[in-house]
Amino acid sequence: MFSLETDITKMPRNWRLKDVPVPSPSDVVSEVFASDVLTLEELRQRLSKPVWKSLAATIDRGAVVDPSIAETVALAMKTWAMEKGATHYTHWFQPLTGSTAEKHESFVTPTADGSAISQFTGRELIQGEPDASSFPSGGLRATFEARGYTAWDPTSPAFIMRHGNGATLCIPTAFASWTGEALDHKTPLLRSMVCLNEAASNALKLFGFEDFSRVESTCGVEQEYFLVDEQFFLRRTDLALTGRTLFGAKPPRGQELEDHYFGSIPDRVLTYMTDCEHQLYALGIPVKTRHNEVAPGQYEIAPIFEQSNIAADHQQLVMQILRNTARRYGLVCLMHEKPFAGINGSGKHLNWSMATDTGHNLLEPGETPHENMQFLFFCAAMIKAVDRHQDLLRACVASASNDHRLGANEAPPAIMSIFLGEQLTDIFERIVSGKGGSAKKSGLLGLGTPVLPHLPRHAGDRNRTSPFAFTGNKFEFRAVGSSQSVSFGITVLNTIAAESIRELASIIESKMKKKQSFEAALVEVLKEAWTKHARIVFNGDGYSTKWHKEAEKRGLLNLRTAVDAIDQLVGAKNVALFSSAGVLSERELEARQEVLFDQYFKTINIEAETTEWMGRTQLLPAALEYLGDLASTNIEDSRALDRTIGQVAAAADTLSDALEELSVQNQELGGDSVHEKSHHMRDNVLPAMTHVRAAADALERLIPSKLWPIPGYREMLFVK
Ligand code: ADP
Ligand code: MG
Repeated sequence: MFSLETDITKMPRNWRLKDVPVPSPSDVVSEVFASDVLTLEELRQRLSKPVWKSLAATIDRGAVVDPSIAETVALAMKTWAMEKGATHYTHWFQPLTGSTAEKHESFVTPTADGSAISQFTGRELIQGEPDASSFPSGGLRATFEARGYTAWDPTSPAFIMRHGNGATLCIPTAFASWTGEALDHKTPLLRSMVCLNEAASNALKLFGFEDFSRVESTCGVEQEYFLVDEQFFLRRTDLALTGRTLFGAKPPRGQELEDHYFGSIPDRVLTYMTDCEHQLYALGIPVKTRHNEVAPGQYEIAPIFEQSNIAADHQQLVMQILRNTARRYGLVCLMHEKPFAGINGSGKHLNWSMATDTGHNLLEPGETPHENMQFLFFCAAMIKAVDRHQDLLRACVASASNDHRLGANEAPPAIMSIFLGEQLTDIFERIVSGKGGSAKKSGLLGLGTPVLPHLPRHAGDRNRTSPFAFTGNKFEFRAVGSSQSVSFGITVLNTIAAESIRELASIIESKMKKKQSFEAALVEVLKEAWTKHARIVFNGDGYSTKWHKEAEKRGLLNLRTAVDAIDQLVGAKNVALFSSAGVLSERELEARQEVLFDQYFKTINIEAETTEWMGRTQLLPAALEYLGDLASTNIEDSRALDRTIGQVAAAADTLSDALEELSVQNQELGGDSVHEKSHHMRDNVLPAMTHVRAAADALERLIPSKLWPIPGYREMLFVK
C-alpha cells in the first residue's frame, strides 16, 4: 500500500542562505579587478626593455613570438604566478567541442633524491603537447598520426584560476595539428581578426580616416542560464547526462504571468551572482549587468564589450565560473539551450561591432555628414554580408540543443534577417530613391540626406524576435545558443564583414579611377548594395507565420534544423570565402562540418538512450506499481477506481508502445558516416523520443506524486 512518508530527497535545500560562505563584502572592486591577470603592465614591469619591446611587437602586430625571449618571459610568468599562489600551469585552449580544455602541469617537479625543482621553461610556455588524440578533429589528425600541439596566444593575457585549496596559471593558447591545421576555435578567430583589420583599414583610408593603426572587432556577450536546486538535479538522470529534462509535464503555471522578468532576485541567487562577479572581476572580466530573465529560474549576466579575441576567452570563463560556483550554493547552473520544454530557452546575445584601436566605433552613426557616410558604408557592408551568408550565420549556431530554440516555437527563428529599425531603413530607401530628407539643409552631398537623425540606442526588447538586430551602434546576433562558444560566430562575422567591406571598397576605388568623385561613387555603391540586399532587412515580428511566408517569397533561406544548416557549411561559396580570407582551409572547414555532425548525432543518441533508460527503469515501473496498488484494493463499486485503472492502464500501454518504438530506433545508427547518423537521429530518433515523452508526461498527471520517481517542473521551477 502507499507509504505516507514524503521522500525528503525530493525536497530542495532551503533557499535561504545558511551555511554558505559569502565572499567578504569589503573587497573593493577597483582593487580586485584583474588582480589574477598577468596584465601587460604587470608583465612590462617584470621584463627588461628589449624583451618587452619584442613581446609588445608580437602583441601589437600579431608577429611570431621570438623563441629567444621565451625563456625570460616564462620565468617572469612563473614568478608572478607563484607569488599568487599557483602551483601548476596549464595551456588553456578551446577544442572543437565548444568548451575549454586544460591539462595541468606542476611547476615543481620532484627529483630522484627526494627534493624538488621548480621549472617552467620558455619551450613549455610557447608550446605544449597535450595528449590530444581524443579531442575531436574531424579527421584532421588521425589518432595514429600523433598529437596536436598548443601554442601560446600572447594577445590574450594569462590568468590564475583558483579552486578550493589551490591555484593554476592558465595560459591562453591555440591548438593545432602538427601539420599546422587549426583544431580549435581560437586559431580561425585570430586569423579572421587579421583579415578584418586589413579590409576595414583600407576602407577607412578611402574615407580619409587615418587616425588609427588597427581595426578590431568588438564583442559583448549576454549570457542566459537557469539555476535549479541541486537536490532536484541529483534526482534527474536526464539533467545530469544531457543537460536538459527529457520528461516533465507542463505545470499549471509556466511563464504566463511574466512576473519573473526583471523581478527581484532571490537572496541565494543574488549571493551566488555576487560571488561569481567577484571571481570574474579578479579575472579582469568587466561584468556589468545581472537580472532575472523571462522564464522562472532563468537569469542573465553581461559584461562590457571588449576586443573579440579577449571577449571570447572571457566568455568561456564566464560559463566556467557560473557552472562551478553554483554548486557551492547547492545550485546547478544549466547552460543548455532548452532545459525545460514549454518554457523559454536560453541564448546568448553576441553584440558585435568594429572599432579602431583609437576607439572609433565604425557602426556608430556620427555627428557630421562625413562620419555618417562612413557609418552607412559599414552598415551597408553588413547588410550585404548577412544576406549573402545567411547559411553561414545559421550554420555557426547549429547544434542539436539550439534546434529547440531556432525554428521551434521560439524566437529568434531559423530564418536570418536584419532588424535595422524604421529610421535607418528609411534613410537607405531615400538614398536609393534619390529623394532627400525633408530637412535638406546641410545636404549630405549626393546622399540627399542631412545629418542622420539621432538613432535610438538599443531598442531592447522591442525587437526580440530578430536574429540579427542593429541596436544603435552595434549588431546583436541573437541566434547563438547559451552553451555554445561564441568564437565561431565571431569568426564568421569578422570574415563575412571583411569580404563585403573589401568588395564595396574596391568598387568605389575602381569608380574613382574612372574619375568619379568619391561621394558619387559611394552613393552608387550604397544604392546598389541596398537594392540587391534589402530583402534581408525585416523590422517586424520574426516569429509570425506571416514572416515565414514573406521570407520564402523573398527567397531567404529557412534552414530549420541543425542538420540542414551544417550541410551547407562546405558549399563552394563558403569554401571560397574562408580559404581566400585565409581563415579556414577547405580541409579545416570540412573538419568542422564533420565535428558538428558528430556532436549532433552523439547528443541525440545519448538523449535517446537516456529517454529509453529512464522510461523503462523509472517511469513505466511507477505506472505499473500504481496499477498494482489500485488492483489490489478491495474497494468495490467505485467509479473512481475503475476509471482511474482504465486511464492509467491506457497511458501505461501508450508509454510501453512508445518505448518499444524508441528502442528499435536506438538500435539503428542510420549508416556509417556522421552525416547519415545525424539524419537518422533527426528523422527517426527525435520523433520516437517525442512519443515517449508525451506518454510519460501524460502519466505524470495521473500518478500520485509520491510514486512519481523524479521531481517535476512545478518543483524544479517554482520551489525556491
Ligand atoms: P542592454 O542590452 O542591456 O540594453 P547594451 O545594449 O548597452 O545593454 O549592451 C549589451 C551588450 O552589448 C553589452 O555586453 C555591451 O557591452 C555590448 N556592447 C555595447 N557596445 C558594443 C560595441 N560597440 N561592440 C560590441 N559590443 C557592444
Ligand atoms: Mg540583448
